[in-house]
Amino acid sequence: MSSQEITRRKWLKTVAATAVAGSVVGRVLTSCRGGNDNWSQTRVEEPGDVGNPFDVDEIVSSMPGEVGCVECGRCMPCWAGVNIPAMYVAYNEALESGEISLVKSDYLSEEGKANSKKFVARLEREIGDKHLAHRCARCGWCEGKCPKQLPIAHHMKSIGRYIDLTRETF
Ligand code: SF4
Ligand code: SF4
Repeated sequence: MSSQEITRRKWLKTVAATAVAGSVVGRVLTSCRGGNDNWSQTRVEEPGDVGNPFDVDEIVSSMPGEVGCVECGRCMPCWAGVNIPAMYVAYNEALESGEISLVKSDYLSEEGKANSKKFVARLEREIGDKHLAHRCARCGWCEGKCPKQLPIAHHMKSIGRYIDLTRETF
């Protein structure tokens, strides 16, 4: 078993715990909205909030390159249920294997379509729809915890739009 597979399995095990904790944490965090916590102030407007949510150019060009997530888990649990480390592991794997492409013409090619569908099917099978990037509400709470200062909300928005686009288009 590769180290990536071991890592993914580790994070998949946290999904059930996250789902339970997430409901509790979610209520606590939601009750903090409007307070002085920095995380509640970080939601910024993103492409796709207005306009065409399925703009291929915009979606493909907003996708990150390989993400330097060290899988420390400090961003968890996400109250919305997103399994952030598992998403990053799966995303980096897909970039490395060529399963997803950040070039529009590749994405729209027959091979690109087939690969994108494979990527989304893998996410659904291995992580589960309730824990995928498109569930992110962009509250920004996780970003305040990340030692790598990753723009998690922005990344989840971009990857989430890619998932939605692939589901709707192909
Ligand atoms: S920004 Fe998204 S991924 Fe992060 S805690 Fe909020 S809902 Fe979850
Ligand atoms: S806190 Fe940052 S580095 Fe750690 S698992 Fe979450 S996204 Fe990755």
